[in-house]
Amino acid sequence: MKIVALGAEPSALIFDLDNTLYTNPGYAAFQEDVLVERLGRELGLGAEGAAARIAALRAERAAAGLGKTSLGRLFAALGIEIQTSVKWREECIDPSKWLKRDARLDRALGLMEQEYDLALTTNNPRLIGERSLDALGVRARFSVLVGLDDTLSGKPAADPFVETARRLGFEPGRCVSIGDRFDVDLAPAMELGMGAILVDGVEDVYRLPELLEDRQA
Ligand SMILES: [Mg+2]
Repeated sequence: MKIVALGAEPSALIFDLDNTLYTNPGYAAFQEDVLVERLGRELGLGAEGAAARIAALRAERAAAGLGKTSLGRLFAALGIEIQTSVKWREECIDPSKWLKRDARLDRALGLMEQEYDLALTTNNPRLIGERSLDALGVRARFSVLVGLDDTLSGKPAADPFVETARRLGFEPGRCVSIGDRFDVDLAPAMELGMGAILVDGVEDVYRLPELLEDRQA
């Protein structure tokens, strides 16, 4: 875990969902696989053909020195509208099959909730975000939830962060973005003046209340 920036007077914490509020490599891989398979059906390429197209796009970005981007944005580059990505995700992904109640997470969020407003900003649709928080047993901790369908523009675009801060009612400078992908979750938030904390998974979120307290003291 690494605090990249915190800001002078943080009032709100904006959490990423996948690989941040839970650590489940099998589920993360499933989400990509099932969506790539759906893409393959749509484009008549088969799952392997679609996976090759996505891999090629990622390689092109890397060769051009561009940062990592979201799967939704890679799909958009292949002609799949974000609205379609939202629909596919809602059809193909059932968080309750993969996630279970996490009492340690709830306790950590409960401690942070005493000091900060908590928001979820995810590149999954709002419905999947809500179902994930329900499955983890932590939905009541979050006062704001921004999903892919709220701005139709996934991270690393600025829009989801701008919209989250607007709904929280805080200037971006009072918000801290917390996620597992620097290029996607942190860099665009820092551009807006937000703080940023890089985590390796939910184990780091368990330790976050203590870390924040040390920093604020
Ligand atoms: Mg993530």
